[in-house]
Amino acid sequence: MNIRDKKISILGAVRSGIGAAKLAASQGAVPFVSDMSADENVIENCKELEKLNIAFEYGGHTDRVFDCDFVITSPGVPNNSTVLQKCREKNIKVVSEIEFASWFCKGRIISITGTNGKTTTTALCAHALNTCGLKTYSAGNIGTAFSEVVLDVKENEIVALETSSFQLDYIDKFKPMITIILNITPDHLDRYENAFKKYIDSKLGVTKNQTAEDYFIFNADDKNTPAEIDNNLVNRYSFSLMAEQKYGAYISENNFVFAEDLNLEEVCSIDDLFIKGEHNIANALAVLITAKILKLSNDKIKLGFSSFKGVEHRLEFVRELNGVKYFNDSKATNIDSVWYALRTFDSPIHLILGGIDKGNDYSIIESLVSERVKKIYAIGTSAEKIFSYFSKKVEVEKMESLEAAIEKAKIEAVQNEIVLLSPACASFDMFKNYEHRGNVFKEKVNSLN
Ligand code: ADP
Repeated sequence: MNIRDKKISILGAVRSGIGAAKLAASQGAVPFVSDMSADENVIENCKELEKLNIAFEYGGHTDRVFDCDFVITSPGVPNNSTVLQKCREKNIKVVSEIEFASWFCKGRIISITGTNGKTTTTALCAHALNTCGLKTYSAGNIGTAFSEVVLDVKENEIVALETSSFQLDYIDKFKPMITIILNITPDHLDRYENAFKKYIDSKLGVTKNQTAEDYFIFNADDKNTPAEIDNNLVNRYSFSLMAEQKYGAYISENNFVFAEDLNLEEVCSIDDLFIKGEHNIANALAVLITAKILKLSNDKIKLGFSSFKGVEHRLEFVRELNGVKYFNDSKATNIDSVWYALRTFDSPIHLILGGIDKGNDYSIIESLVSERVKKIYAIGTSAEKIFSYFSKKVEVEKMESLEAAIEKAKIEAVQNEIVLLSPACASFDMFKNYEHRGNVFKEKVNSLN
């Protein structure tokens, strides 16, 4: 794609916006970066742009934004923001950062999307493929913007791309060789004007440019992912924890099985997968299909599964003290993730729950809580809601802080029990972000004696 001398306005001066600006400049285009905010991070990033002679503004969007050939938008810019509305009124083409970066990608793209499990699956996929000797980059929401790495990717190499639905809202020619949709559950409805259908459509949009040489991998157990999609060219593979699949992967007698019509292969045992929990087995099934499509060997896939130690803040084992195991699942910011976390453990759980509630329906975890949770320690602004919902079913105590909850749980948990931070809520009432919350948890747990 030739973008030489094109005037490109880029909305957002955080990771993906900065990456896109640098990529645009490297291709001889004329980028202009514009950010609504003037926070520290944005100002710091703009200093980098200044050094590169890239024009920018922050603290608001001026009309200069609209003087361009097209706009690249960042995932953080809401669809209904004034600036995007004006672009629509003025008929200015808007693309997302992954769309833009994909124009320059020589390698093959694996797009990984879904409500939960994207980062874990992207990291597992890159790890497993690299272990199999196939050079694979991970990019997207997972950390490095696609624009940052795309020029490094060679023809026979792969990019495992964590793709959020916000990035998919503005795709045009984006054409992954493999798209994975892990699951679709109601989250982020605030960004989609409460229209679940729109959220689903945005995720399914990822398949629209795929052709007969491409693949679509979906979760047959997920009632919100339609098995039928508009695109009937693409090759379809499904995975399931519950039932055999004709084309895809499933579990049979503790083994990962890959099926292609009547051809069945036992790839390895579920015990070979180091990361625990049914949800991670589901994530691994998606990766397994990917690896088989790429014709990788079962031995190498097994090695990839056993040597992947997981991603920080996702059901991360912290330590064992006096026979009690402590797990940090700070990334569990919605109720569905907590449901999976609770299903992972057979032992009684001391659950730390709470923060900013994004409209949680606690009935989803109610029976699991009754079955497996010994006590809930409720923290943050949602403590009262949690207390009134659960206190008739299980012991609940409202705690002043995360640290206080940990101290109390340490006193109360006995041998073979679990202390689990899986808050079902956003962290911003007490912490900078979920990473900060997870780090505070780990520091405190590691200081216990
Ligand atoms: P994402 O990048 O989609 O937010 P992560 O891999 O960061 O997903 O995991 C977020 C949370 O969801 C963690 O608590 C993790 O344990 C949980 N999780 C991981 N995979 C799944 C899955 N397939 N279904 C439900 N929850 C999951």
